[in-house]
Amino acid sequence: MSNALMILSAASHTSGLRHNSGSGFADFLGDNYMLTYFLCIAAFIFALVCSAKVKSTYAKYSKVSSKRQLQAWQVARQILDNNGLYDVAVVRISGHLTDNYNPKTNVVSLSDSVYDSSSLAAIGVAAHECGHAVQHAKGYVPIKIRSAIVPIANLGSMAYIYIFILGLIMNNDLFVNLGIILFAFVVLFQLVTLPVEFNASRRAMKTLESELILERDELYGARKTLSAAAMTYVASLTVSITQLLRLIARANRRR
Ligand SMILES: [Zn+2]
Repeated sequence: MSNALMILSAASHTSGLRHNSGSGFADFLGDNYMLTYFLCIAAFIFALVCSAKVKSTYAKYSKVSSKRQLQAWQVARQILDNNGLYDVAVVRISGHLTDNYNPKTNVVSLSDSVYDSSSLAAIGVAAHECGHAVQHAKGYVPIKIRSAIVPIANLGSMAYIYIFILGLIMNNDLFVNLGIILFAFVVLFQLVTLPVEFNASRRAMKTLESELILERDELYGARKTLSAAAMTYVASLTVSITQLLRLIARANRRR
């Protein structure tokens, strides 16, 4: 990371020599197109590391069984019931690390390796997904904002590249800028996702402790698993920010 900062600083200096008129950040990116390329690669490597880390952390703590021997689905049911969420179903889904809460169907889905496991990792994941259900029920503000952005972020992620490239081909600023704005909504969505994810994990850890689902010396396993998972969201955001910088750089190199 310090290398990237050094490159940024050096590039900024070079740009300053060429542009005395203070032409702004967008022009700076346009002048330093290769820099954004390297930042993209760095972010991508960071994402790969985070992805490997969550897999290895999960693998490690999925082998450590909790003393109370509750299965993850039972833990989920207990947390949901204790929050009065009797109408939220807990189901099993296929795949690895595919666990999720769907607010539309009001279902907590636990993956094959989590559902009937009583490991520290599985119980952490189950409690985290229930954290999302509780956020939804209690009207947690960031999850509301995130839900509101979903349609335009989905549209943005599908359409931005076509509109952007069309803008470049037609030399049309309006399309180029529209492509960038659409992608900015994808970045905004990922930014709002961070407090939602961190808060769900915080709720999970509190519940696991207060409801005595895990004993004090077992909490670390669930915490490490959830922290590793949270870092993958940070990594996704980092990748998207560097992609956004690249779009801005590409647009301004043209001008
Ligand atoms: Zn989550």
